[in-house]
Order: sequence, then structure tokens, then C-alpha cells
Amino acid sequence: MSGKVRVSILGATGSVGASTLDIVSRSTPGAPDFQVVALTANTNVDALAKAAIATRAELAVIADETLYTKLTQLLAGSGVEAGAGYNALIEAAQRPADRVVAAIVGIAGLPATLAAVRQGTAVALANKESLVCAGALLKEEAKKSGARLLPIDSEHNAIFQVLDRPERVEKLILTASGGPFRSTPLGEMAAVTPEQAIAHPNWEMGAKISVDCATMMNKGLELIEAAYLFGIPERRIEVLVHPQSIIHSLVAYDDGSVLAQLGMPDMRTPISYALSWPNRMPLPGLERLDLAKIGRLDFLPPDPQRFPALDIARAAVSAGGGAPIVLNGANEVAVAAFLQRRIGFLTIAQVAGEVLDEFLSARSVADAPASFEEVYEIDRLARERTFEKLRLAA
Ligand code: NDP
Repeated sequence: MSGKVRVSILGATGSVGASTLDIVSRSTPGAPDFQVVALTANTNVDALAKAAIATRAELAVIADETLYTKLTQLLAGSGVEAGAGYNALIEAAQRPADRVVAAIVGIAGLPATLAAVRQGTAVALANKESLVCAGALLKEEAKKSGARLLPIDSEHNAIFQVLDRPERVEKLILTASGGPFRSTPLGEMAAVTPEQAIAHPNWEMGAKISVDCATMMNKGLELIEAAYLFGIPERRIEVLVHPQSIIHSLVAYDDGSVLAQLGMPDMRTPISYALSWPNRMPLPGLERLDLAKIGRLDFLPPDPQRFPALDIARAAVSAGGGAPIVLNGANEVAVAAFLQRRIGFLTIAQVAGEVLDEFLSARSVADAPASFEEVYEIDRLARERTFEKLRLAA
């Protein structure tokens, strides 16, 4: 890429969005000269307008249509165009850009991610739920349009950085910190609060992914994401608990070599790689890895009793078809209910597993979805069933 690098950020007000804004707002010698095209948010209209004005974005879109007037007022005189609602979000994703950062959380991010992929844009993908629910379909669309999927998730970004000979890969090893409850006595896990679950020991992230890390459903979703992204079957993807989050993942080759990517746990590194690929860009001021200071790196296998979500996700990916969509939908509903203090922590994985089992027994999702409409329908049914089981109103 030469000249200005045009970047749009879908989900600009979130945690990945903030890290991306930090990168594109710097002016560092040797780094690309970024031009912000579109920024989007769901309801956080103040932060959206502030970021759009600060970065001189062309367009700012708020998904919640009721906030359109407020957005136009906040942007008055700034020269930033305002948009609101679903169609405007899709338009933001479709604006010509060199990179679209897909950082909306949940399956809610799929339509915009798909719109960017269909344009043939290189998509820097954080929104793992899109791949979990529609991995095969999205890859097919990317093949048709020539779009490139560049993973932002630190584990997949690590693998992407060291995966030079895919045909020689024996296995992928995804590292996991184990989250805040890695060594909490099992008897205390039922009573943990949203505040405790969100307090990740190494990474600062949005609420949903933080809870997913605490249950380790995040690693399950990442396993599915990795299977799609790298075309490696689930049985050749291992999970390794590594509490320090320094090794971001590893690739084992068939000559006995194991390649890993290391770094401090800071999302700006993988995001910058996805923005500057196939080059790298300088990120001065970020804490550098000092292994002598860290002293030791620990590794242990995941505990299936403590983290049943991982086996549930393996069951979903090995069943294939629409099973990962069911798992994701049930998990999204359960995590939201936990964050609202309507269910306990352990109920999250339990209900996701039960809903998945029901759909698998009924064989209603045995076939892979043939269209995105089918993906949304399976998601709807899985959510409906989860609400029913939790006896909650949608
Ligand atoms: P956050 O919750 O911090 O941010 C989510 C963003 O999406 C916000 O901009 C939010 O807008 C927007 N959004 C939420 N719902 C909708 C919707 N229905 N329609 C349109 N926009 C919406 O999430 P994170 O940044 O933590 O995560 C984003 C994605 O990246 C997730 O898929 C996550 O798994 C993945 N990821 C995150 C990492 C991290 O370090 N945070 C690491 C690796 C992957 P608003 O602010 O207005 O609500």
C-alpha cells in the first residue's frame, strides 16, 4: 500500500475500536499514513462523534436510529457525514477502503462484515462470531470477491504471522490465559459476579468477550474460528493454558519445529499487523517484551471440569452443520443474562450445552446452512430456545 491507507472501523467505540483508533491517529515516521473513512457504533453516540471529529472521518454511523438527530447535532459544522440505522451501517462497511476493521461484537456484526467482504475489501477481523456462525459462507464470499480475511484475534494473528507452510502443519496450539477463575476453588465459581468475571488478569476487553474468557467459551469460539480461517480440522487444534499471555499461539510442523509469536498482551500489536500486512509498522511507546524480567512462562492443560465450555465447543465444531450457530446464539443470550444478573455464572456453559444437545438430538441443524438467511434463522431459533430454558423474556 502506498499513499494514504483508507481505514473504516465498524465498532469504533469498543475496546478493539479504541485500540485501532490509537494506531490510526498516530503519526510515526515509517508507519502508514492512515485516512479514516467510516466509524460506526451502536448507541454510544458521544464517543462516536468525538472519534469521528478527532480523526476527520468521512462518515459516522450510529446503528440505533433514534440517535440520528443527536449525532447530526454533535457533528454539526465538522464536515463529517452522519448516518443511522441498518442500511447506513452496511453503507459504511461498503465505502471504498483499504482495510475494514470488523470489531462489532456478536453475530450482530455479521451483516456489516459480509458487506465489506462482498466489496472485496481486506477485512481485519476481530468479530469472531461472524466466522463461528458463517465461516464457510464468508470464506466462499471472500473467494468470489477477492477479499482477504486478516485475523485480529491475538491467537489467530499469531498463527497467521508464523504459518508459512500450511501443508506441513501437524497441529495448531491456541494459548489461553485461563481467565480470572483459573484457580478459583470450584465451590466458589457458582457465586462469581459480573464484575469479577470481567476483570481479566492480562487483557482489557469488552464485557462479552471478557465473560467468554472467564468461562473459556472464548477459546471454544476461537477453536471454531481457527478451523475456518486456517482450514485445519478441530482434532488438530489444541488448547494450552498459559497464564502469562506472552506466547499468543503456536504452530507445530511435521519436522518437529514449533513456531510461536510472542509479545506483551496489547491488542495494538495484532491490530497493527492486520492494518499494515504484508508489511509491519512501528509502534513506539508500547511496552516491549522483556523475558528476563518476566522470568518464567507456565503451561498447563485446560481443566474440563472447571471449563466445560471448551468440550461443548468441540462438540459443536465436530458436529458441523449449523451447530456452531446454535452454540453461539445460546452463549450470547446466556452471557447477556449473566451480565444483567439474571442467571448465575455456571448457568452460561450449562444452558449453551443443553440447547446445543437439543438441536443435535433433533438433527435440525445437521446440514450446513446454505445461505446467510439460514444462518440468521438458526440463530433466532437458538436464542428463542435459550430464553425459554432460562425462563426469561427476550
Ligand atoms: P466491545 O463491547 O468493547 O465493543 C463492541 C462494539 O460494537 C462497540 O463499538 C459497540 O457500539 C458495537 N456494537 C455492539 N452491538 C452492536 C450492534 N447491534 N450493532 C452495531 N454495533 C454494535 O467489544 P470488543 O471490542 O471487546 O470486541 C469486539 C469484537 O472483537 C468481538 O467479536 C470480540 O470477540 C473480538 N475481540 C476482541 C478483543 C479485545 O481485546 N477486546 C480481542 C479479540 C477479539 P457501542 O459502544 O455503541 O455499544
